[in-house]
Amino acid sequence: MKQTAIMVAALSALTLGCASVNAKDPAPRDFQRIVDSAHARYKDLKDGKNADYIPILTETPSDLFGVVIVTRDGKVYSAGDVDYAFSIQSVSKPFTAALVMTEQGPGVLRDKIGVEPTGLAFNSKLALAVYENSQNPLVNAGAIAAVSLVKASSEQERWKKVQQNLSDFAGRQLGVLEKVYDSEYSTAFGNRGIANLLFNWGRLYSDPEEALRVYTRQCSVGVTAKDLGLMGATLANGGVNPLTKRRVMPAEHVPELLAVMATAGFYDESGEWMYTAGLPAKTGVGGGIVAVVPGRFAIAAFSPRLNEAGNSVRSLNAIRDIAGELGVGVFGANPK
Ligand code: GLN
Repeated sequence: MKQTAIMVAALSALTLGCASVNAKDPAPRDFQRIVDSAHARYKDLKDGKNADYIPILTETPSDLFGVVIVTRDGKVYSAGDVDYAFSIQSVSKPFTAALVMTEQGPGVLRDKIGVEPTGLAFNSKLALAVYENSQNPLVNAGAIAAVSLVKASSEQERWKKVQQNLSDFAGRQLGVLEKVYDSEYSTAFGNRGIANLLFNWGRLYSDPEEALRVYTRQCSVGVTAKDLGLMGATLANGGVNPLTKRRVMPAEHVPELLAVMATAGFYDESGEWMYTAGLPAKTGVGGGIVAVVPGRFAIAAFSPRLNEAGNSVRSLNAIRDIAGELGVGVFGANPK
């Protein structure tokens, strides 16, 4: 009798640790309390600085900070500036990779882009040396290649599909922050170089300047922290948007996408992120981050100041704390 009780306890601990669909979420007030306290803990942290290689990003007020959890059934728990629209930047990358998988199957990502972590910064010059063989859809080279793989017979069609797909994940129509686009496209010398080299190597599948323009527009899409939460919750919900109930990608490909996010979502900090937070996630230089607890919920945050790796300092700390407090790391509960 006693043994059975111990086994049951051990099994349920295991289930919770593995963040399975069967794990029980905390009560709403506990979710809210945990979001509020993570926000309060980091709202005065001033470490890091706004991205400045895209000139206009220096103008985003640095003290903005929002934290949100969105569950697979669409419940939202938030604190701070969760309705401020900022540019999605690289948080867009897994979602366009999802579009390519949905259109053409997961093999195309593996064969035509790659799914190996680079261990290098998103725009590393050294990375050029390895782009020929080793890349993934979450570094700039692979993300520009993913845009070039979207099936389209014109630039307009390519862009519309990318925009609609991001909108479907968010559950509302998203638009471009035109000033961000102008600022980034007029200074996109590095990304243009990457696109041209990839094309030269036969690893870019459309006109390079077209891929660069659509990629830059994709990065300039305006989102709120709440939108990122919903996009992540769509992944947590097996590819169905919790609000619109629309299927955005096949459930069977969600694990493959989350695997790439787990190994490369934080660029050259991906190892440390998985070591300390244990969740597949994606960051962007606009200050947004979304992390996914598979089968359960998403944790998203926004704050413009970035660390050396280009990841939002307040956001990553808040999400890591929440993951620790809820014990939802995918390999088991990380210590708090
Ligand atoms: N649009 C940005 C770039 O290409 C995205 C980088 C990022 O968010 N890490 O440089």
